[in-house]
Amino acid sequence: MGKIRIDYERYRVPDKGAFSLSSISPDDDQGIDKASARKRVKKNLDDLQGFQERLYAENKQSLLMVLQAMDTGGKDSTIRKVANDLNPQGCRVTGFKVPSAEELSHDFLWRVHDHAPPAGHIGIFNRSHYEDVLVVRVHNIAPQTLIEKRYRHINDFERLLHDHGTRVIKIMLHISKEFQLTRLRRRLERPDKHWKFNPSDLKERKLWPRYMEAYEAMLNRCSTEYAPWFVIPAEQRWFRDLVVSDLLVDTLQRMDPQYPEPAFDVREFPPESLK
Ligand code: AMP
Ligand code: MG
Repeated sequence: MGKIRIDYERYRVPDKGAFSLSSISPDDDQGIDKASARKRVKKNLDDLQGFQERLYAENKQSLLMVLQAMDTGGKDSTIRKVANDLNPQGCRVTGFKVPSAEELSHDFLWRVHDHAPPAGHIGIFNRSHYEDVLVVRVHNIAPQTLIEKRYRHINDFERLLHDHGTRVIKIMLHISKEFQLTRLRRRLERPDKHWKFNPSDLKERKLWPRYMEAYEAMLNRCSTEYAPWFVIPAEQRWFRDLVVSDLLVDTLQRMDPQYPEPAFDVREFPPESLK
């Protein structure tokens, strides 16, 4: 198979210095050929399966992938793609919607912590605690003085997860406002996509610049060395799949999960001696 190497490090938000969304083009594809990208994604998904099995058997570390994006950014289809071949027993996807009255009566991380992946598992967040510094900031749902403190609360929370063996990677699927328009139109053109259209998405769309400002603020304040943010060009879906799957495979490779040593002396149990 042709070896293609993509560079996802260019999409990492540095933990120091000023990052601007305008530095990453939402339709970037690094000039990669689509057919070889697809082949490589397939190989990545196979590799992921192997890593997941070892992660589960090892039962010590876990991986959390946080996905954020504007409406139509492709969170659902990214999850469908990368989680499709995973063993459901060791993988949990959690979607975060408008908080319930009970959830709102607690601190904003209360509902999130419960869904952090336990040892051996892969967790995927479709939206996350970051909504509490995105939509909440754009709509002034909480006092700005409190939202201001949340960046630190989030960094401390992710540090806690990290210290307990959870590798956290955070992905913003990056699209342009023009691209969103084509996707929203498509949702209205196709009856099988109507369920995905919500008239309130148009209200959020009008607030695009304020959302981008909120995204930039949180990217600059919450990309850490232990829980980095990646801003991934997401207009070419096949390229997005390639970058996300490469990132997952490399992360798991670095985590290097191992099958545990058997808790018995294997020599005492020659397979042919079993009755
Ligand atoms: P969807 O992902 O399209 O099903 O929509 C879920 C909606 O829930 C989005 O509009 C989010 O902005 C909203 N949402 C998620 N978390 C929160 C939160 N903490 N506070 C307010 N709205 C939220
Ligand atoms: Mg929606």
